[in-house]
Amino acid sequence: MIEVDQFRNQTIAVLGLARSGLAAAEALKRGGARVVAWDDAAARRDAATRVGFELVDLAADLAGAKALVLSPGIPHTFPQPHPAAAHAKAAGVPIVGDIELLALAQKAARFAGITGTNGKSTTTALTAHILAKTGRKVAVGGNLGVPALLLEALGTDGTYVLELSSYQLELTRSLVLDVAVLLNITPDHLDRHGGIEGYVAAKRRLFHGQSTQHTAVVGVDDDICRGIFAALKEAGKQRVVPISAQGRVAGGVYMIDGTLIDDLDGAARPVLAMAEAPRLPGTHNGQNAAAAYAAARALGCEADAVVRAITTFPGLAHRQEWVATIDGVRYVNDSKATNADAAEKALVCYDDIYWIAGGKPKEDGIDPLAPLFPRIRHAFLIGEAAPRFAHTLDGKVAYDMSGTLDAAVAAARHAALNDRKRGAVVLLSPACASFDQFRDFEDRGDQFRRMVEALPGRRA
Ligand code: ADP
Repeated sequence: MIEVDQFRNQTIAVLGLARSGLAAAEALKRGGARVVAWDDAAARRDAATRVGFELVDLAADLAGAKALVLSPGIPHTFPQPHPAAAHAKAAGVPIVGDIELLALAQKAARFAGITGTNGKSTTTALTAHILAKTGRKVAVGGNLGVPALLLEALGTDGTYVLELSSYQLELTRSLVLDVAVLLNITPDHLDRHGGIEGYVAAKRRLFHGQSTQHTAVVGVDDDICRGIFAALKEAGKQRVVPISAQGRVAGGVYMIDGTLIDDLDGAARPVLAMAEAPRLPGTHNGQNAAAAYAAARALGCEADAVVRAITTFPGLAHRQEWVATIDGVRYVNDSKATNADAAEKALVCYDDIYWIAGGKPKEDGIDPLAPLFPRIRHAFLIGEAAPRFAHTLDGKVAYDMSGTLDAAVAAARHAALNDRKRGAVVLLSPACASFDQFRDFEDRGDQFRRMVEALPGRRA
């Protein structure tokens, strides 16, 4: 755990007492600050009192705090600031997040930060995996997994690899990243940022304070990021490395015809056939691999060692996670695909798909997936979305109204085993949220994995 001693003998307010908020309160307390804490939920307040924190209703009074530490889920601007954030703003009290506290407490460490609309978790995990495999002392967390202040204190010879959401970036002031990775930007969560401009401004904070010894790695496969790349190049403050999964980019890292190319020094060297990294299927993972490769190289890792590490990446759970191959049928858990856009990324990777889909429907349904329907041999529909999805599939793709996940797994296995061609894939890529039948997407994916693990048959 990190100790934040920059606020010794000062009062600091912490609003939001879930895991990261409690960690922030503890880190500040250990560093000698007086912490006043609050959460709008009574149960969280009770939990905080039990571990000895002083409660103050921060919406009414900031209790003389020198800073307000906000959990990333709590709005400080759009759609409406939390009253405590409004007080802080009016009184000129800085509003920060836990990443800011980590940056203050671990000034001597190196920092790599990764953001973007999609692929953050994969790229963060992959970058950390590469650094660890090449012998670096590394801690990985932030928006992904372990809250920043529960990470180990690394000191001078360590590197923090942080997944940074736009909310977290907005609450960061003194963090200067040695390597800043911006993967892509598509409009998302716009309500929290007051429109696309606010969202882009939040993402651009990633490069804040960088200078000649720092690197910006920027995906250039969408218009917004291409614009940001051009602006950074023009300003010339830091080294700027373009990455792409769609075409050549001079001086960057890119994937072309399934091969990763290193053009960092202008030599356009093919370094890896992505088929050798089976846990990173699809074009989108080409973007993630190019970004992680560029980041690791910027942090001084040797090209060959980086490539070897990419091939041994175990992948992340619930993102096209290979669960098992049983009697020649592959079972893939892509429970994280909670909308059509994410499901598309998985559907393009396979040809003979027995598709388990459905759950709590999102607005766009599965209409945008129509070009991929020829890859789907049969669909097994579950949850609230089943009737709507059935309507879209009618006359185009055969389907069962399976209702529940276990019925869908049993029926999909049966159908896939009868497939004459080998290489059939039972793919859970629901294109829906999970909350109608599961606690969250992790619960849904874990249940799928357990069901598959219990299936009979010969395992490859
Ligand atoms: P995030 O942390 O940004 O949500 P993840 O790495 O968890 O991203 O990936 C979530 C899903 O997003 C994946 O299952 C895949 O469908 C899609 N995805 C991953 N990487 C990318 C990318 N670079 N571009 C577009 N979509 C992606």
